[in-house]
Formats: sequence, C-alpha cells, structure tokens
Amino acid sequence: MDRLRHEGLGMTSQRTRNRLIQRLRDEGIINEEVLDVMASTPRHLFLDEALAIRAYEDTALPIGYGQTISQPYIVARMTELLLSRAKSLHRVLEVGTGSGYQTAILSRLVEQLFSVERVEPLLDKARQRLTELGYQNIEYNLSSGGFGWPEKGPYDAILAAAAPSTVPDELKQQLGPNGVLVIPVGSEQQHLMMISRRQDTDQFDVEKLEAVRFVPLLSGVVR
Ligand code: SAH
Repeated sequence: MDRLRHEGLGMTSQRTRNRLIQRLRDEGIINEEVLDVMASTPRHLFLDEALAIRAYEDTALPIGYGQTISQPYIVARMTELLLSRAKSLHRVLEVGTGSGYQTAILSRLVEQLFSVERVEPLLDKARQRLTELGYQNIEYNLSSGGFGWPEKGPYDAILAAAAPSTVPDELKQQLGPNGVLVIPVGSEQQHLMMISRRQDTDQFDVEKLEAVRFVPLLSGVVR
C-alpha cells in the first residue's frame, strides 16, 4: 500500500530523518531528548499523501482548513524552551492540535498531555492518527469559544501553536505555580514569548524571543 510505496522511495528512511535532525542542530537546537524524539517520530504520517514526500524538509506545510503543520525547527525550539524552563511536566496543555505532530512530540516528553483544537475535522483526524500510532497519554478537546481548557488545569506548561495579538489572560490563569507558557504573539510582526508564573503568585515574568510566523489564534468552533 501507499505507506510501503513511500518506504520504497526512501522517504521514511532513518537517513532522511537524520538529515533533518542535523539541520536542527545546525540551527541551534541542543536538547538531546528533543532531538531523539524528533528523530523517531514519523512526520510524514501527519501529512496528506501528496505532501508526505516533503515531510522532512524544515518547512511548514498545509493541512487543510487554512492551517499548517508547524515547521520542525519551531516545534523543536518551542519544546526545548518548555523543557528548559518548566519545573515539572506532569500536566501540559497544547493549544492548536492541528495535524497532531507537535502533540506526538510533546506526549513523549510529558506525563499527561491535554490538546485542544477549534477545527473539528482536524481534531478528529489527529486523534485517530495518534491513537492508531499508540499514543496514550493524551486527552483531546474541541475548544468552544474560550482559550485553553480551564477544567483540566492548572498546567505545569502550556504551548500554543497559533498567535493571538496579545497574550490571553485566560491562558495565563491556567498556569499552575511556576508554570510556563510558550506562545507566538502579534499580528503583522510576531514573536515567540515565554511567560512564567512566579511561584504561586499572580506575577508573571515575560521574555520576548525570536521572530516567528504562525496562523492566528481564533475563537469559535469550525465543524
Ligand atoms: N502544531 C500544529 C499546528 C497547527 S496550526 C501542527 O504542527 O500541526 C495551529 C492550529 O491552531 C490550527 O489547527 C488552528 O485551527 C488551531 N487554533 C487556532 N485558534 C485556536 C484556539 N483558540 N483554540 C484551539 N485551537 C486553535
């Protein structure tokens, strides 16, 4: 079947994937745990057949509904930031399941992952894929209106894969003591921001990092 055909092309070979990992190293990713997980996660299985051949290029690609699978460098960078800063990773929230690729990476590095998405067909497809691939520590939710998943919080860390124009207070409030939020922020110009709650206070430290390009964080559900 198609999957075998791709293997025949060498697209899924470990060598192809290793080339991507080398590229991530060249771009400055240093966390070996993140690199290991990315080396063994089949990104081509999170794309449609026609685009699977490009899965190990370091680029964002369309996944339908005007959305994109994140660029591997960005997935690596955001995951590395979370790991470097969060004090524990028992309960982690991902905003914007999309294809489920970042979900797959995160789920192998944290205890319990909660993933929310506003486009129902994308969520269904990602859930099915991840379940078939054997990922078990993930709970999914169709986000209806507000941001995040307050009922399951507070979280040790939150990673958002879509950009609001300013950081939503709702997401900050879902952080537990010392919790960390990594999120792209801005409309025309976007930057990665890292927001950490100071212990159990209502004070937050904010760091502005590199320029990025993400799809917008939107409210409301698409069915
Ligand atoms: N990490 C995903 C990125 C997908 S793009 C991947 O690599 O495939 C970002 C996703 O965020 C889109 O699927 C979009 O529908 C979703 N999104 C946008 N606003 C959202 C919101 N308020 N709540 C949940 N998901 C949202």
